[in-house]
Amino acid sequence: MIPQTLEEFITACKSKGLSATPQRLLVFKVLQRMAGHQTVEEIYDQVRLEHPTISLATVYNNLEVFVEQGWIAQINRLHNMARFDKNSEPHHHLLCTRCRQLIDIDQSVIPPLSLPENVRNGFEVSGYQVQFEGICANCSQSVRSPLNS
Ligand SMILES: [Zn+2]
Ligand SMILES: [Zn+2]
Repeated sequence: MIPQTLEEFITACKSKGLSATPQRLLVFKVLQRMAGHQTVEEIYDQVRLEHPTISLATVYNNLEVFVEQGWIAQINRLHNMARFDKNSEPHHHLLCTRCRQLIDIDQSVIPPLSLPENVRNGFEVSGYQVQFEGICANCSQSVRSPLNS
């Protein structure tokens, strides 16, 4: 779970031995005000508004640190775009293949999945994500009434 306030974030950084650099604080602030699922490019664009000289690598490295701390999650690459999820709890997704919107689904609504031992072949599963793909309500509506789009 990502810290809720800047103060909590700074405290969390200190307790993990991470320095609270201005760049790191800025990436946190941008994540805080953005909605759930962002590509690194979307995050970078927002960060650059306040810090025009920051590099994409710096933003990406900070996001990776946040993932290592369990504050955010990295979502499987979707169409070659790395996405980061503010919800680091285990959960599943609905993916709209038209507008690329991701919608969270609580883990509890899907019966637990398990793999037979002969398939796992010694692999220790630590988690899994289910991604349902399709067309979201907004997109399917705009298809039905093209005049509104
Ligand atoms: Zn859609
Ligand atoms: Zn999510």
